[in-house]
Amino acid sequence: MLELDGIHVYYGNIAAVKGLSLTVHPGEIVTLIGSNGAGKSTTLRAISGLLPLRHGSIRFQGEDLGGAPDHEVVRRGIAHSPEGRRIFPRMTVDENLDMGAFLRKDEEEIARDREMVLDLFPRLRERIGQKAGTMSGGEQQMLAVGRALMAKPKLLLLDEPSMGLAPVLVDVIFETITRIREQGTTVLLVEQNALAALEIADRAYVLESGALKLHGPASELAEDEEIVNAYLGG
Ligand code: ATP
Repeated sequence: MLELDGIHVYYGNIAAVKGLSLTVHPGEIVTLIGSNGAGKSTTLRAISGLLPLRHGSIRFQGEDLGGAPDHEVVRRGIAHSPEGRRIFPRMTVDENLDMGAFLRKDEEEIARDREMVLDLFPRLRERIGQKAGTMSGGEQQMLAVGRALMAKPKLLLLDEPSMGLAPVLVDVIFETITRIREQGTTVLLVEQNALAALEIADRAYVLESGALKLHGPASELAEDEEIVNAYLGG
């Protein structure tokens, strides 16, 4: 479904991703793990057209995505829930969800997906008229994921969805990701919380300093002593 072939991504003169190749198959949850600064968020930004590739290629459903602007990437079926609280703070929860569907015209299905999102995140239903910027960090995080789902993506890019969440909400968010996949959306997940990510993922890629260190079935990596020591806190 998604194929990255030897991508290099720079910020000015600084190489953040150096020759990364990876594949995501339809229906999978794939996780990208690695320490701070390894290039995980940069990889997601390159896929969603927010950063240009210096070398290499990205193919989605057999078509080259190379250089496509972000709205074109959304149109082709990829939605990105970025790191942090990149919601529209002055808009209500409802208006933020509407923004997620901005390229769609299928009003009935949009209404159905809105219900689906509000079922996944009952907290958002309770706060539907609240200005998003006044919600808690965890609530904003849920809104960012919900807004990405409103694009009805085939592939959902999730950047640190558990960041800053209380432990009980971390469980909720990982359960929700599993349910999102059950509903037919493929997921590429970047997580600091590597152990939880490996528990729900099918396969994992470990990045180090912008390059691939190793990859394999998530269950195998979770038992790999080197990985456990380096990324899962021993
Ligand atoms: P983290 O888990 O800490 O979010 P990450 O694996 O997502 O890390 P990236 O955010 O992709 O890492 O960063 C990769 C490298 O690119 C880092 O060295 C970082 O300092 C650098 N970098 C990221 N964003 C920018 C930017 N806007 N300008 C310059 N350098 C950047």
